[in-house]
Amino acid sequence: MNCWEIRAACAGGTEHAAPHVRSAAWSGHVRVSVNSSPPRKSTFGRVLASLATLALPPTCCLCGAWGGRDLRGAPLDLCDICRVLLPRNAIPCVRCAIPVERPGTLCAACARAAPVFDAAVAPYLYAYPAEHLVRGLKFAGQRLYGRVLGQLLAAACLMRNGPRPEVLVPVPLHAARYRQRGFNQAHEIARFAGCTLGIAVDPGILVRVAATREQSGLSLRERKINVRGAFALRRQPHAAHVALVDDVLTTGSTASEAARVLKSAGVGRVEVWAVARVTLAQRSTDVPDISDGLRIQDRH
Ligand SMILES: [Zn+2]
Ligand SMILES: [Zn+2]
Repeated sequence: MNCWEIRAACAGGTEHAAPHVRSAAWSGHVRVSVNSSPPRKSTFGRVLASLATLALPPTCCLCGAWGGRDLRGAPLDLCDICRVLLPRNAIPCVRCAIPVERPGTLCAACARAAPVFDAAVAPYLYAYPAEHLVRGLKFAGQRLYGRVLGQLLAAACLMRNGPRPEVLVPVPLHAARYRQRGFNQAHEIARFAGCTLGIAVDPGILVRVAATREQSGLSLRERKINVRGAFALRRQPHAAHVALVDDVLTTGSTASEAARVLKSAGVGRVEVWAVARVTLAQRSTDVPDISDGLRIQDRH
């Protein structure tokens, strides 16, 4: 399945907001409701949406203008103006991608104790409008946002030097969360990033076996304890270099735990690729919970 076929398949599950709604969302007057369920369509509606997606050029999912092109010339559901306005993570820590003051340096936390994963890529900060795309995909069923987020992540990875991973592994959701959401947003991003980069995506290597608590309000130490044992190996990776893909990198606790499992299985190098990075300042203030931990009543 190529990128366009993947896009058409996605179009069957959801669609962009109407242009005037998108314009309003961009100006901040209307935000996507994060509690709404993904829209459901009949088979006929899905076929129509797929045909429309194949026939029509992409439009910007933030403002409704015509979409631009990604680095490889593929259509992008984002116009050039909105793309420039995405909050760039300009100077990231070379290990965990948290913003630092000087290029090519470690943050204080990584200098004290490096995370389990070897490197992280997070091209944007978790702020509007990148936040709008991430939350729209994750909480409002806007699955086409996965395409633009995957292409943006791929573009950032294309700019890097060094060897590419052999396989992309989406950070898995717990089965209860998957049933609730109907898809894994990390897999949506990974498959478009993998399609753009020509890297295989394997969502079957890891499984999330523990329904962890929501991470919001937990200290870094509590987060580490919360995710301990959250993942298990379902299939041997057969790769020396793997990239874990997620939508947002918050403290890195979840990614470290997943990386620990992969390294225990013999993977030599594990990178973490996320679209957006939560900053230290955000972690200590009132960023809404974006983790995929479950509320106590969701557990079973
Ligand atoms: Zn735009
Ligand atoms: Zn760091």
